[in-house]
Amino acid sequence: RAKEKGGDTFEFYHPDMNFRSLERLHLETHLRKALSRDQIRVHYQPLVDLESGNIFGMEALVRWEHPELGLVSPGEFIPLAEETGVIVPIGNWVLREACMQNKRWHDMGYDLCVSVNISMQQFQHPEFVATIQETLAETGLDPAWLALEITESVAMKNVSFVMETIEELKRIGVFISIDDFGTGYSSLSYLKRFRVHTLKIDRSFIRDVTTDEDNAAIVTALIAMSQQMKMRSLAEGVETTEQLIFLKERGCNEVQGYIYSKPLPADEFQKLLDKTPMPLG
Ligand code: C2E
Ligand code: MG
Ligand code: MG
Ligand code: MG
Repeated sequence: RAKEKGGDTFEFYHPDMNFRSLERLHLETHLRKALSRDQIRVHYQPLVDLESGNIFGMEALVRWEHPELGLVSPGEFIPLAEETGVIVPIGNWVLREACMQNKRWHDMGYDLCVSVNISMQQFQHPEFVATIQETLAETGLDPAWLALEITESVAMKNVSFVMETIEELKRIGVFISIDDFGTGYSSLSYLKRFRVHTLKIDRSFIRDVTTDEDNAAIVTALIAMSQQMKMRSLAEGVETTEQLIFLKERGCNEVQGYIYSKPLPADEFQKLLDKTPMPLG
């Protein structure tokens, strides 16, 4: 433990010391080795259909199991991974792991889709579409069970390139979602041109949706717009029954949030599936 605020303060490595206080270079080096050292994990959070109340899929969320720091959340290392480019191998690994796990579940009789977050660097990589195809072929997962989540910042980079890539992905048969919708700099006209399958409404709007009139108006409008444009709407970060009722009343299609479950390791996710009545196919 670092000495309490006394005179000759000194610090050294400690498991609960703040992640950001670690030297960046040190972190970067560790992050680069995380994959080969088998420290990257994928957790799964249920996606729930509001109409039926059933789990229809899961979002794959990366974690870094650091030997001293414990489980590091993506909010803390994804930005660094993106800056350094390590996100490409890590992201591709997560994609493969998620597809493999989903295929395993299919083989066991669970018909669920898996949604994977894709960083801009991955999406813009010349091999991206090929990587998706290879991953599907090698894992044996039907493309219709895979959804890719891209953010508005990805979508806004190079409109014609993004449109072409999205069209190629759709031809393969995978689904595309716009993640964290409403937080980036998007133009609604792009949304029209991209024609994505699902709009994921950012948690920041859902958080106070039952107490903040503006957020209520925004969420209501986004759900209505999704319906009109024949997209599915998904609300992120649902924690309370009040939020759930609000969303259901407005015709929101899907939800995700702690009210159902936090992201879980695969074995715990499966236990959750076994507890919940599931439509087996
Ligand atoms: P996201 O894609 O918007 O994922 C949803 C985040 O909201 C997850 O945080 C999830 O744990 C959290 N969340 C879900 N429901 C609730 C809730 O009811 N309350 C609260 N407070 N939080 C909730 P997580 O796992 O920490 O991931 C954070 C972000 O990191 C993700 O946001 C995504 O942008 C990024 N990320 C995660 N995994 C990957 C990955 O494999 N690749 C890339 N490129 N980014 C990833
Ligand atoms: Mg996401
Ligand atoms: Mg999201
Ligand atoms: Mg979000």
